[in-house]
Amino acid sequence: MHFCHVRSPQTGQIICLPESLAEKASIVAGPAVISELPLLPFPSPVSEEPPLFAPDIRSVLYGKELLLDELPFTIHELAALLQSQHMTIRSGLKQTENGFCCQRCHNSAKQFFGVFPCARCGQSCVYCRHCLMMGRISACSALFRWNGPAPPISYEAVCTWEGTFSPGQAQASRAIISTIIQKGERLIWAVCGAGKTEILFPGIEHALQNGGRVLLATPRTDVVVELLPRLQAVFPKTDIIGLYGKSEDKQKTAPLVIATTHQTMRFADAFDTVIIDEVDAFPFSQDKSLVQAVAKAKKQHAALIYLTATPTPALKKRVKNKQLPVTKIPRRFHGYPLPVPRFKWCGYWQKRLENGKLPHSVERWCASHIATNTPAFLFVPSVNVLWKTTEILQKTYPSVMGVHSEDEERQHKVAAFRKGEIPLLVTTTILERGVTVAGVEAAVFGAEAEVFTESALVQIAGRTGRKKETPAGDVVFFHAGKTRAMLDCRRHITAMNEEDAEGGKRNNA
Ligand SMILES: [Zn+2]
Ligand SMILES: [Zn+2]
Repeated sequence: MHFCHVRSPQTGQIICLPESLAEKASIVAGPAVISELPLLPFPSPVSEEPPLFAPDIRSVLYGKELLLDELPFTIHELAALLQSQHMTIRSGLKQTENGFCCQRCHNSAKQFFGVFPCARCGQSCVYCRHCLMMGRISACSALFRWNGPAPPISYEAVCTWEGTFSPGQAQASRAIISTIIQKGERLIWAVCGAGKTEILFPGIEHALQNGGRVLLATPRTDVVVELLPRLQAVFPKTDIIGLYGKSEDKQKTAPLVIATTHQTMRFADAFDTVIIDEVDAFPFSQDKSLVQAVAKAKKQHAALIYLTATPTPALKKRVKNKQLPVTKIPRRFHGYPLPVPRFKWCGYWQKRLENGKLPHSVERWCASHIATNTPAFLFVPSVNVLWKTTEILQKTYPSVMGVHSEDEERQHKVAAFRKGEIPLLVTTTILERGVTVAGVEAAVFGAEAEVFTESALVQIAGRTGRKKETPAGDVVFFHAGKTRAMLDCRRHITAMNEEDAEGGKRNNA
């Protein structure tokens, strides 16, 4: 399929149409593969209702940018909406000086583009491999965007949450509301276990009650799956959808959307409030194009709120330079300080491991936790170390298990660990975030390894002492030489505890 630029008889403006819909006399450019046509500016939004009034379709299309085969109708049914500019078309790939830029995921790295023999344009066609799992975008693909009025929002956003806030939570919650009102930007720097989900409820309620659309983006599918029922329970009268790789809600839209950062790619100019959870976590912090995808999903004037326990150096720098307002919650919800990690030298452990042995100190730590029925995470630096360590421990304790990111039994093992069926879980950094288990203690074996960055170690330490009943919790880093990251981690935790002790004097830089 090829596209043309034509002068619209209705508005006099140049618009892009599929060749089959264009009248020969009005063509000003093309027909050609869409990425070879000149760029057109986005037309200003059309405020009248579309000629073929289709309210259901509008609520599917609003705030999204979709491929032709993702549209719920054919190109001929589209014709009137394109003529009246209620819908607009742009090229899926934009030509740049060095190649292409994908307009959906903003990838412009050469290694993420491929070439295939394309049936649609009959040529060798360049396509984006970076967002391939969402349907192929190639040089002849068009992206369709709704440009008409927003669907009316008719719902009551009632927040039924009745818990109480700690003083730190209450302050952060007020800061979030005012950021939403001002359509500003703010970092919420909350220690692990501060209760950061709850502090969002009043802000989300405020945004929704004022007709705003809210996106809660998170790097991990697990979090979407966990948060969706929680938010549905808190906002029982609000339409909420959860978007992740396998979700069934992908064709829908709603005033409140919880999505993995990947799934935000389909949205364009859609949200008045965007909240990014765990802003420092993989893949978000490592993938520039996902940052741009989130930027595309929000409206030009929108509130942007970042949540994290471990801000990246870039965020900290913006805070320091007073470019980004911050609200800190240095105190955990239950009011006790964060457990400070102990360091324990464990010698050159690789050799011992090769010989089927663990360092004595690590062995003793595991044995004492299993003997006292204290649930324990043993973090290790690689899958290879994971196999060996698990195998050694299983000789004495057959119910010990190991878990890593590719492990298909992961959810199952974590559930069994929670129930106490597994006394000790050996894990790679995959469980450093998000998993809350009552009374758990944690050790890092090989803490000097590069994967254990300051933020990874802070997150690991943050797994312990989360419940009011067991606020202390032991955290120990077994190492073959202290690293900068280990020291920075301890400094980070101590500083948060001191800030807490000072009653938040330095709060709100
Ligand atoms: Zn093609
Ligand atoms: Zn792409």
